[in-house]
Amino acid sequence: MTQTAHGVEFSQQPSANPKSAQERAAILANPGFGNYFTDHTAVVDYSVDESGNGGWHSARVEAYGPISLDPSAAVLHYGQEIFEGLKAYRHADGSVWTFRPEANAARLNSSARRLALPELPAEYFLGAIRELVSADREWVPGGDGEALYLRPFMIATEAFLGVRAAREVSFRVIASPAGNYFGGELKPVSIWISREYARAGRGGTGAAKCGGNYAASLIAQQEAEANGCKQVLFLDQANDNAVEELGGMNVFFVMKDGSLVTPALTGTILEGITRMSVIQVAKDMGREVSERKITLDEWRDGVASGEIAEVFACGTAAVITPIGVLRDATEFIGSEDATAGETTMAIRTQLLGIQTGAVPDTHGWLTRLA
Ligand SMILES: *Cc1c(COP(=O)(O)O)cnc(C)c1O
Repeated sequence: MTQTAHGVEFSQQPSANPKSAQERAAILANPGFGNYFTDHTAVVDYSVDESGNGGWHSARVEAYGPISLDPSAAVLHYGQEIFEGLKAYRHADGSVWTFRPEANAARLNSSARRLALPELPAEYFLGAIRELVSADREWVPGGDGEALYLRPFMIATEAFLGVRAAREVSFRVIASPAGNYFGGELKPVSIWISREYARAGRGGTGAAKCGGNYAASLIAQQEAEANGCKQVLFLDQANDNAVEELGGMNVFFVMKDGSLVTPALTGTILEGITRMSVIQVAKDMGREVSERKITLDEWRDGVASGEIAEVFACGTAAVITPIGVLRDATEFIGSEDATAGETTMAIRTQLLGIQTGAVPDTHGWLTRLA
């Protein structure tokens, strides 16, 4: 047992066959994204007792490996699942840090409420991340743009086909070394407009980080790829084609006057922690930021007139990615020769600098893990 700084005890059941230093080095030489996983996983279980009281228990770090689930487990039938994504960064002195984990813990709980899953006390969330990264600290890469991607998730494990919120749930964290998400240099990407499919509707789960939203977005993502685009943009077609977000990233516009605009949170948009950090970093740079409705018409006309100078997408995995072109069969907005905009790059450099320890962390966003 170890006592974490947050007061939750995780029992330690180390892997009997961790990767050798050589195997690990071979993986870290070219990790890609989401391909390889570390030696351990952190787990906390939840169950409801006979008198109806629910509680989290059995916090542990154990060997990474397949999960044994009853075939009737609720998650396999009704999709009661939520997840998070954050990164651990190796700083120049070898220490390992993560970025705004309390915000991920809070968002996990707001997703939990929406999916009728139990809320997880923040000390378990932070404890699980700290314990896992401590066990697998050798897996945190230190190269430019590299990090250990942490994937906390919660699933309904109860064996029961009735339709109701499950009474047995498991929270887990797995970790995957990550290189640059889109690979190589920071080239603006082309984005496909989804006309036929929405990822979220009013009253739905768009503001929750749940696997179901991703399942619903894959067909649109396939359409984007079939048309040579990297990602898909979702619009609120019932609301003047208001821009929502990409499948897993929020969108920002840099206006001619240097101010920034991002779609207001309407309930169908996921509130990214990168999004909230970009807003703060831009304000720190003296920029005005407005969260408001911005339509496809304004995007097209703004790029044509020069009113919109730059467009970028943001999220934990890829941090900040410039958008060069937005298109479908009838639209072509932007240019294939676009290069990354100055403001986009300045914000990216500042944010990455804070995360990697190259720039002072004036907002107290970093938490040391190991
Ligand atoms: C996770 C996610 C984002 C980005 O959130 P970050 O906290 O910045 O990583 C944006 N949109 C969707 C749909 C997401 O699932």
